[in-house]
Amino acid sequence: MAEKTPITVARGDGIGPEIMDATLRILEGAGARLDIEEIEIGEKVYLAGNPAGVAPEAFDSLRRTKVFLKAPITTPQGGGYKSLNVTVRKTFGLYANVRPCVSYHPFVETKHPVMDVVIVRENEEDVYGGIEYRQTGQVTQCLKLISRPGTEKIVRYAFEYARRNNRKKVTCFTKDNIMKITDGLFHKIFDEIAPEYPDVENEHWIVDIGSAKLADAPENFDVLVLPNLYGDVLSDVAAQIAGSVGLAGSANIGEHIAMFEAIHGSAPRRAGQNLANPSGLFLGAVMMLVHVGQTDVAERAHNAWLRTMEDGVHTYDIYKEGVSKEKVGTREFAEAVVARMGQTPSQLKAVSYKAGEGGEGSFSGRMAREAAAANKELAGVDVYLDWTSGSANDLGAVVEKLSGEGLKLSSIANRGVKVYPGGATETFCSDHWRCRFVPEGGREIGNKQVATLLSRFAEAGLDFIKTENLYNFDGKPGYSHAQE
Ligand code: NAD
Repeated sequence: MAEKTPITVARGDGIGPEIMDATLRILEGAGARLDIEEIEIGEKVYLAGNPAGVAPEAFDSLRRTKVFLKAPITTPQGGGYKSLNVTVRKTFGLYANVRPCVSYHPFVETKHPVMDVVIVRENEEDVYGGIEYRQTGQVTQCLKLISRPGTEKIVRYAFEYARRNNRKKVTCFTKDNIMKITDGLFHKIFDEIAPEYPDVENEHWIVDIGSAKLADAPENFDVLVLPNLYGDVLSDVAAQIAGSVGLAGSANIGEHIAMFEAIHGSAPRRAGQNLANPSGLFLGAVMMLVHVGQTDVAERAHNAWLRTMEDGVHTYDIYKEGVSKEKVGTREFAEAVVARMGQTPSQLKAVSYKAGEGGEGSFSGRMAREAAAANKELAGVDVYLDWTSGSANDLGAVVEKLSGEGLKLSSIANRGVKVYPGGATETFCSDHWRCRFVPEGGREIGNKQVATLLSRFAEAGLDFIKTENLYNFDGKPGYSHAQE
């Protein structure tokens, strides 16, 4: 008898406990070798005074088992509660969110009969650092961070996933025609890593037209790798157009710990009635079995589930007169899957998970490589001001006087548009101004010159709200230019 794999299970809120029972029942029926530790998360834990919905002791269990099967929870109404998912993702560095979006035509209604897309979403960076500021009366800001190691990890993960799962193509979406530095880095790293996988096709689309194509013809896509925000939006779009948000599972993968769940919430109105569809959580659990190397069990359970779908044994949410054969409750659905263990679907494509290929083990040793050492030099500074006392030319006249000691004003921009010198009179200006200073006459500058410049701003009574140093890396600008 093979050794049991320890996992941590949380039953969650609403329909959570019912769909978890059903999922565990199917896993048991498939012969899963699991040693379960239970923790409590969600509403009760929030209301007991833990702002993240999870008690610190629960983290000990996750550190021990490294595998977390999580049912949905209810976030209590009102402010002050932090997202449990974001907390777990950030605490344990779960950098990859993997969400297969599959249609089950003709057994489940869908707009896209041929759809089998896997979204690989970067899970830690982008605007999800939650680093935001209100800087002036009128203007707010959110920081978008894209790092080389973060991007290398997710892009490599997507290609490794494609290879392991016999997928043909990885597609990357970014908006690097606009965000040339941040999204540009994501795209560049995609282009650097793709050639290491000559057996997997690769392509890049700008996210707007790419999304339109995904929504229109998902059959043309296979694996998608996306920065966090685009991935968040598009993984819901993809699950929805597959026709089956209630049928989608998701994996959050880190180097040490992984979390598996359904993509839907706790559906409180359906709770306690033996109505809910356990399939989303179950398919998350199948990904878990593959992750821990129980590929034989994953394959048996998944194929029995596909057979159940095909046999028309459906819960209320996907039941359709004429297509479905039998409307069942949560428990009966689980028993129907268990009764089909060993069977495979006849019309839908059967799954096959190869032994020894499970898990992220083959990947986890391959850390991101070092960024190429670059020669970094200070090439200027942007000083941002909160200012409401006149036009761009008025401000220009005031700020010109602050040039000196090696730094001179080169331009003023408002929300990224150059407004001084020589701005268009029609450009709308907010109270948020960027004054760009560059070295005077090719002089070398350092932070000392920046500090004295700032003290001149302070003496002039100007409210500088932030500064941003401008660097060249190996002579190439590491900053954007204002729109002229
Ligand atoms: P929801 O996903 O819980 O429900 C949306 C709709 O889908 C409901 O009408 C429900 O009847 C139906 N539905 C969802 N899952 C189903 C299933 N398995 N079987 C049958 N029908 C199903 O979204 P919501 O109503 O916006 O959110 C409810 C709660 O869930 C909120 O407190 C929210 O914060 C939380 N939530 C939690 C998670 C999570 O834990 N990962 C994710 C999303 C929402």
